[in-house]
Amino acid sequence: MTRNPDWTRDELILALELFIRSGHKQLKASHPDVVELSKQLNQLPIHDHVLRNSDFRNPKGVSMKLGNFLSIDPSYVGIGLQRGGKQDREVWDEFANNIYKLYQTADSIRKSAAQITESSTDYSFDSEDEEFPEGKLLTQIHKRKERNRKAVEQKKQKVLEETGKLVCEVCEFDFAERYGPLGYGYAECHHTIPVFQLTEEHRTRLADLAIVCANCHRMIHHSRPMLSITELRVLVEQHNPKA
Ligand SMILES: [Zn+2]
Ligand SMILES: [Zn+2]
Repeated sequence: MTRNPDWTRDELILALELFIRSGHKQLKASHPDVVELSKQLNQLPIHDHVLRNSDFRNPKGVSMKLGNFLSIDPSYVGIGLQRGGKQDREVWDEFANNIYKLYQTADSIRKSAAQITESSTDYSFDSEDEEFPEGKLLTQIHKRKERNRKAVEQKKQKVLEETGKLVCEVCEFDFAERYGPLGYGYAECHHTIPVFQLTEEHRTRLADLAIVCANCHRMIHHSRPMLSITELRVLVEQHNPKA
């Protein structure tokens, strides 16, 4: 029998939330909250069922993961716990001191998981795409909103009507100016709602979309935590002072 797939960030975020919510304790496998989380992890649409063993994310495994977090917890003074992996520590560092973000992210993951399992099939979790710190599920939801053709076309139409061009809101790159007629009407849209607050049911408003060039969009997705349009613009300006 092969090993179960490694825990993803989504799963670690849910486990860390339980760890913090229960007062930094390693709850036993029999604890109702551990049993409940085990059930939720089994329902997450992230890992292909053929890769899961019969003990996939069972209550014992969940309790052990809480133990990994306990071993990372600087306020813990005991010894003898199995130390967590690199990914456990990363998630700890990013979320343990930001309880509001941790709870919101866990909440969004749970809501989105429920909506996704019920509905669509066009989610792919094995893609090579860069993933946000908030995990695969919310990254996919962000990307799906940006692929919403109707909203994107409406946004571009509106900006074209108002300004006569599509200029990157970060660096002012204009595809039409650089490439001529080929680039006219071309631009990407970035969905600006913070990923940790995003759920499948969030309805995209045109104001949520920002016009960006392909490079700036890549850089936004490459940054951790995700930079806002304004933050990236400041960064670009600082790095390229106008003569
Ligand atoms: Zn740009
Ligand atoms: Zn984006």
